[in-house]
Amino acid sequence: MLCQVLVSPLQISGNRAASVTIEDRSRDEETEQMRRDFVANVSHELRTPLTALMGFIETLRGPARNDLAAHDRFLEIMGREAGRMNRLIGELLSLSRVEQDERRRPVESVDLAALLRSVVTTLSPSATSASVSLEQVGTSGQVMLPGDTDQLVQVFHNLIENAVKYGASGGVVRVVLERLQHEPVLRGPAWMVTIADEGEGIEALHLPRLTERFYRVDTHRSREQGGTGLGLAIVKHIINRHRGRLKIESQKGKGSQFMVILPESAGRV
Ligand code: ADP
Repeated sequence: MLCQVLVSPLQISGNRAASVTIEDRSRDEETEQMRRDFVANVSHELRTPLTALMGFIETLRGPARNDLAAHDRFLEIMGREAGRMNRLIGELLSLSRVEQDERRRPVESVDLAALLRSVVTTLSPSATSASVSLEQVGTSGQVMLPGDTDQLVQVFHNLIENAVKYGASGGVVRVVLERLQHEPVLRGPAWMVTIADEGEGIEALHLPRLTERFYRVDTHRSREQGGTGLGLAIVKHIINRHRGRLKIESQKGKGSQFMVILPESAGRV
């Protein structure tokens, strides 16, 4: 079965003033709950590698003090855990920046085709070591649109990296750039980038929650792959800032497609 979910910019409700207080209170409670969940998640995510580091320090000081072979092994694991904490902190900072930026329209003019070619080149070594071949369609030449270069690099880096990580070993990841004459929700011409993998796919029940902070389908697999669970949340905020849309389609056992649709022009401010 083909499953699809759309993540579009926030909609502001047009309710009458009389209901605003009640709505505000429940929204405040919801926001407060989200904040508490977020702090709990961050603490948990940081504590996991920290606990491992502390355990190894104790072992190196005690039972493994004179075991030189163990030193190398433990130091390697400790390096990995420290790297995980570093990545998590980097992504938390990124998330906080993109959340703050969300209401500021990007003003730069970005060459989307060149940007995609460059992200694909950057990720080629990881694809090669995962035995995944990266293919590009429609990315030659120049495609200009309004955007924030660094943030768009982050969007496509996260999505293509995920497709490589969760794609099939020996399979293909396709990055396709195409123009849409009239995108119905954006009500105008747009550019669509599809990142398609041939991995396990994602079950329908997970799709609407994928862009939530720390949401993972398989926490163990994500951690094994060095994931933080924040990549798609960052992607969502950046796309919202660009007044674009993210579409996710997946077929269990066949693979997933992440489609980023960006308006061709800045439109109305
Ligand atoms: P992570 O750092 O865990 O990869 P993301 O926010 O990038 O976090 O993705 C959230 C979750 O969505 C992942 O943990 C994974 O379970 C799932 N996911 C993302 N991309 C894919 C994909 N291409 N195929 C299958 N599952 C995916």
